[in-house]
Amino acid sequence: MVKVCFGGTFDPVHLGHIGSAIALSELLSVPVTLLPNGRPSHRNKPAASAQQRLDMLRLACADKPQLLVDSREIERLGPSYTYDSVKSIRAEMDADEVLIWCLGADAFAQLHTWHKWRELLQYTHLLVLQRPGSLEPKEVDLLAFWQQHQVNQPQQLMASPKGAIATVRLPQFAVSATAIRQHFEQGTIPPEHMLPAEVVHYIMAQNLYNLETN
Ligand code: ATP
Repeated sequence: MVKVCFGGTFDPVHLGHIGSAIALSELLSVPVTLLPNGRPSHRNKPAASAQQRLDMLRLACADKPQLLVDSREIERLGPSYTYDSVKSIRAEMDADEVLIWCLGADAFAQLHTWHKWRELLQYTHLLVLQRPGSLEPKEVDLLAFWQQHQVNQPQQLMASPKGAIATVRLPQFAVSATAIRQHFEQGTIPPEHMLPAEVVHYIMAQNLYNLETN
C-alpha cells in the first residue's frame, strides 16, 4: 500500500488544495488524504473553527472518490505537529509500505522551524509541490538536509517506504485562503474558480470570515 497525505489549515479549503490533490492522485495513482490541522503551531489562530474547516473539506471532497479526509489532527489535543501525524499514520502501516507527506514549497522553506523536523523522514517521504514564485529554502541546515535526501522524480519515492524528498511541479492554481477570506471580509463572493460552490454556501450559512458585518 502507498499512502499519500496533504496537511493544511484549509481556512477555507480552495481549488489550489483540491486541484493539487487531484493532480497528485493522478500522478501517483493512489488516493490522497487531506488532514486539517487542529491548532496550527506556525501561524495565527484560524478564523474558522477546526470543525468548520473539517466540514468545508468534507463538502469539497464529497464527490471526489480519489480524495479522503482524515480528522486525527483536529481530534488530538494541543498543537498540531506533522511529526505526531506521520508517527501515528506510520503506526497503522506495515514497515514496507510507502508513506508520502506532501507540502507546498512555501511550507517546506520553513521546515527547519517545525517540531522534530529532521525526524519526519524516519516515518515518511516528503513531496514538495512547487508554488508560483516560491524560492528554494535558504536556511543552511535545511538546504543540507534537502540535498542529502533529495531524489529526482516523485515516482522514485515508491522504491522505499520513507526517508527521501522529491519535488514536483503540478498545474498551478493562483489562489490562496488569504485572498478568499479577504473577498468575504470585503463583502464580495470570490469567483468560482477559487473554491467549490458548496464551500461558498457553507461560509455564507455560517457567517464565516466577517461576512455578516458587510
Ligand atoms: P493562507 O492563505 O491562509 O496562508 P493557504 O491558501 O496557503 O492559506 P494552507 O491551508 O495554509 O492554505 O495550505 C496547506 C498546504 O497547501 C500548504 O502546503 C500550501 O503550500 C499548499 N497550498 C496552498 N495554496 C496552494 C495552491 N494554490 N496550490 C498548491 N498548493 C497550495
